[in-house]
Amino acid sequence: MEQVQDVGCVFCEIVADRVAVSVVFQDTLTMVFVDLRQFHPGHTLVIPRRHLRDVRELNDSTGAALMATISRVTRAVGAAFPNEGLSLWHSFGNTSNRTTFPCDDGLDTR
Ligand SMILES: [Zn+2]
Repeated sequence: MEQVQDVGCVFCEIVADRVAVSVVFQDTLTMVFVDLRQFHPGHTLVIPRRHLRDVRELNDSTGAALMATISRVTRAVGAAFPNEGLSLWHSFGNTSNRTTFPCDDGLDTR
């Protein structure tokens, strides 16, 4: 069963507009914002608005919306920032020492 929000999840706080971020794009199912760490110029995070732990919990409509948003934002980042390529990654489980494990896809230039 999908969770709408997860206590302590910063992405849920962002979706609820309780944490300020620079929003790049949003629709009814997805949201894209600038990652403040900016490992490389154009580093953005794409998330579903509903709290999911990872891609295994996606339903068909959210999965389709997430992929459409990733495609749209990838074209924009690729056009806006000098690069020799782009990287898109999706982490599963506790790979970043976070206390919650929200679903997100990171987009970065190389
Ligand atoms: Zn969340």
